[in-house]
Amino acid sequence: MLAEEVKPQLIEELTHALHKKKRSQPEVDFILKAFEFAYQKHLNQVRRSGDPYITHPVAVAKTLIELNCDKEAICGCLLHDVIEDTRASVDDLKELFGTTVAEIVDGVTKLNKLNFKSTEDAQANNFRKMLLAIAKDVRVVLVKLADRLHNMQTLHFLRPDKQQRIASETIDVFAPLANRFGLRNIQMELEDLCLKFLHPKAYSLIKDLVKSKKLDREAQIQKLKVVIKQILDNNGIEADIQGRAKHFYSIYIKLCQKGTDLNSNDEVVEIPIYDLLGIRILVSNVKDCYAALGVIHETFRPMPGRFKDYVALPKSNLYQSLHTTVIIPWDQKPLEVQIRSYQMHDVAENGIAAHWNYKDEEGVSQANPKEAEELKWLKQLVSWHTDVSEAKEYFSGVKNDVLGQEVYILTPKGDVIVLPVDSTPIDFAYKIHTRIGDTCTGAIVNEKMVSINYKLQNGDMVEIITNKNGHPNLSWLNFIKTHQAKYRIKSWYKKQNKDRHNTLGEQLFTEHFGKAEAEKILKSEELLKIAHKLNYKNIEDLLSAIGSGDQSITQIETKLQSKKLETVDHQIEKFKTRKAPAQGEGADIPELDGLLYTIAKCCMPIPGETVIGTISKGKGITIHRADCYNVKQAEQERVMHINWTNREVRTYPARLNIEVVDRIGVVKDILTLIADEGINIKDFKVTERPTTTTALLKVTIDVNGQEHLRKLSQKIYNISDVLQVERS
Ligand code: MN
Repeated sequence: MLAEEVKPQLIEELTHALHKKKRSQPEVDFILKAFEFAYQKHLNQVRRSGDPYITHPVAVAKTLIELNCDKEAICGCLLHDVIEDTRASVDDLKELFGTTVAEIVDGVTKLNKLNFKSTEDAQANNFRKMLLAIAKDVRVVLVKLADRLHNMQTLHFLRPDKQQRIASETIDVFAPLANRFGLRNIQMELEDLCLKFLHPKAYSLIKDLVKSKKLDREAQIQKLKVVIKQILDNNGIEADIQGRAKHFYSIYIKLCQKGTDLNSNDEVVEIPIYDLLGIRILVSNVKDCYAALGVIHETFRPMPGRFKDYVALPKSNLYQSLHTTVIIPWDQKPLEVQIRSYQMHDVAENGIAAHWNYKDEEGVSQANPKEAEELKWLKQLVSWHTDVSEAKEYFSGVKNDVLGQEVYILTPKGDVIVLPVDSTPIDFAYKIHTRIGDTCTGAIVNEKMVSINYKLQNGDMVEIITNKNGHPNLSWLNFIKTHQAKYRIKSWYKKQNKDRHNTLGEQLFTEHFGKAEAEKILKSEELLKIAHKLNYKNIEDLLSAIGSGDQSITQIETKLQSKKLETVDHQIEKFKTRKAPAQGEGADIPELDGLLYTIAKCCMPIPGETVIGTISKGKGITIHRADCYNVKQAEQERVMHINWTNREVRTYPARLNIEVVDRIGVVKDILTLIADEGINIKDFKVTERPTTTTALLKVTIDVNGQEHLRKLSQKIYNISDVLQVERS
């Protein structure tokens, strides 16, 4: 099918969906403008399914229209692939659709480049980059999840190995992420689709079982609805009763937990009907939630240990509900019941999207105070990393903190502390305060002494016993769960070591220079300057580094002798002038031997890249990159295609744009890496971006070809805190 043929239908689908949600005409027009742009950009692209590419962004947009998201997020969906797959730039989007839309698309484009199935180190870095992109604008995650949903819905068109890779990444990262942001429906659909591709046998088995019990199930639900409605009516509680079919993945998990082998051929799998359904009671307010619960528990026998109060203790994705399991008297089977208000239901279904809802006539979304509250955990996780050097460690901790299951623990004052499942009193202590963690010696849970590695249960009330002379124990690292506690314990030990190293460092220093001289140097302004230059905060840190063997004294001595302290600028000058090749020297393109040609300054092509020559009178041939703007402007007859491979080793200037987290030292890391590679730095400039926490580093370097540049870019990208490396 051609794009032109489906266009009217796609416009109709979008407009219809928007009108159904009562969106204003200016909004509809704005969104259709984004559609038209995406349509033109993707015009000749086709999906693996054979459908015109534009069907994909439209499907993604429809998901967020359903969720009632604001117009920026919906435009973000329509445009989410234009930067990656077409020649459109962030600046184009900024000009046409505003900064917000452009930044959402930019964020999604960056997420798309992350690979969560690579080595552990790379994963760790990627995970952090993902959190950073989301923290910038949470709508990025909405668009990304909707994108992933449609990709999963159309996964059967891909090669089997790709299906496996994408499905396993989805179940590990994106379904838990949907859960973390409370996007229940997206999470369930993602999980079911993953099951289908990862465990096809179990999937079809469950599907058949659910189907075979459909009539039975519907009859049961009907019966339950009538009975429960009657009981609640008698007690003056107005409620809507819904039957709730469980999604396949939750049935799968339940069967696995029971030890059923879904892959065995001979075992006949039987699923009790009540494992396939539940009942949901919707009431108008919190008071009625508890009233309804009381009535249900009076009428049916509750199963002990199954009641959960997420109304008083909301999950960290703000989910609220009462959960209970009761025994159905007429066949003595357990039935799961959820009770919640309509408002809680909205949050339970739409999660964070509920906060980005379309709010007023102009379509301006209002900042929602709850949204700030909800994202506090995310901002905190992102900020933590600035203190943590080991990305791998951060990853395992944070992945669990973000994507894992949670327990809700009470302080003696009744405050709720949310922790990952299997957390211990130590995790709890560090969550309250570092000092309480550092001096923790024991814990009382529900008024009983417990061991320090006790696994906390939902609703436990925990009191920590401290001793002011106590200190953390390294063996705690074996059983504690939270990243925060692990980090704090290690810092405590690092600090202890540092004091020891400090003393040792001073000793070594004195031995090296002699007592009198050492004392003089230690007080000198010069040594402080050297310390700063070597990136130590003060002399103490420098001495600790000497004590731990990280810093050589000889290096310091040499620097003291040279006396002339170079400023950072001097250093940069040194980088710049080292090995600089003669300017204006002709490039070496075998194909053009004997002809007059020059390398274009606008795009600085290098050997190995696809290049095009433009011919101009008197100036000969100018060599551009094929994607250079100036080539597109040139007339066809003035253009020649050239195959440029490297004959001899020489270098060519190339420019990179590197986006980094704005932290002290990252620029130095990058420049040092380039210098260590023996590559000449011709120029560089750092632009800070006042509204974000990132900075843009523009650097011009000499490389000997595309492969060389590619390898270097990869190395730079691997530096933690580098978000993106691009040829400019
Ligand atoms: Mn996409």
